[in-house]
Amino acid sequence: MARIELKDVVKRYGGFTGVRRMDLDIADEEFLVLLGPSGCGKTTTMRMIAGLEVPSEGEVVIGGEVVNEVDARDRDVAMVFQGYALYPNMSIYENIRFPLRMRGIPKADQDRLIRRAAEMVELGDFLDRKPGALSGGQRQRAALARAVVRQPQVFLMDEPLSNLDAKLRSSMRVQIKHLQRQLKITTVYVTHDQIEAMTLADRIVIMEKGAIRQIGTPDEIYSDPADTFVAGFIGAPPMNLVEGLAENGRFAAPGLVVACPGGVSGRVTLGVRPEDCHVVGEGLAALEGRVYGVEPTGETTYLTLRTGETLFEVKAARDARFNLGDLVRIGFDPDRLCYFDTETGARLR
Ligand code: ATP
Repeated sequence: MARIELKDVVKRYGGFTGVRRMDLDIADEEFLVLLGPSGCGKTTTMRMIAGLEVPSEGEVVIGGEVVNEVDARDRDVAMVFQGYALYPNMSIYENIRFPLRMRGIPKADQDRLIRRAAEMVELGDFLDRKPGALSGGQRQRAALARAVVRQPQVFLMDEPLSNLDAKLRSSMRVQIKHLQRQLKITTVYVTHDQIEAMTLADRIVIMEKGAIRQIGTPDEIYSDPADTFVAGFIGAPPMNLVEGLAENGRFAAPGLVVACPGGVSGRVTLGVRPEDCHVVGEGLAALEGRVYGVEPTGETTYLTLRTGETLFEVKAARDARFNLGDLVRIGFDPDRLCYFDTETGARLR
């Protein structure tokens, strides 16, 4: 069992706190993604699980054992980092074999394990080549094979796909998820790419400034953001956030009026995802704005509307035809609206 627990973990670097009071319980076989902007403490958290950093306070527990004092080499953890770091002078076979030698796995078992790992990532025919004779994606797969060859208890990946082009990234995402499901290895994956997080994770941890903002399934994080930070971080384009005033079941901001739940009042920020807006006829609109930008992406067309000083993103039909300056009326899907306290950013409804 490789459940991983972080209990009240703090990491300080001199006077600076990189990770503050982190409590995290990662289930056996779970695929957990740490997501957040640069410098939020993702890598530091991962390195404490790996044993490459010692927490300043708190406990790291793997499989029921407190491992704060356990050396990285003695934790049953395999890591893949960006840049994949294969040994250039060794063949792929020797690269994959390396962790088995380090662990003293009997020679008689090595060949079988190496070939099985290589087959999993479809590199069975490339074992004799040196890394220089492989493509970027093949090298990345070789690094994965090396990480899984000895079936570690825990798999740690830090931005493993960030050096690859978009097409390769998406095919490697599928490979990584497939491999993790097959091997059932508890996995912690660090990224600042929300598509990677949404597609790979069982649960996502959103971090900001060394602290957890929200933990949830991709759907929970997307549909039910805990605060304006999460709401603005997830989604491309992100949720529209409009500051206004709520009273007597009515939320109003310049150019925008909408019925709101009774309990919501005072200085409130309304959150609306671009896909929860639709173009409506006169008299039905929650918002009226003039077209400020039109962005066809092939799959859909995004409109930017301007109302007062506010720019508002709307997902329109793929074949929508609008010109700059056109007046557009928008209605919202009332069940999908989010309300936040403008002062604290916390979710109200
Ligand atoms: P990125 O996405 O840019 O890799 P991250 O979320 O992984 O960022 P960390 O590398 O965990 O962020 O760093 C968290 C904070 O701790 C940053 O502000 C960083 O500058 C700081 N930090 C990390 N390592 C050290 C160190 N050895 N000494 C001092 N400060 C550090």
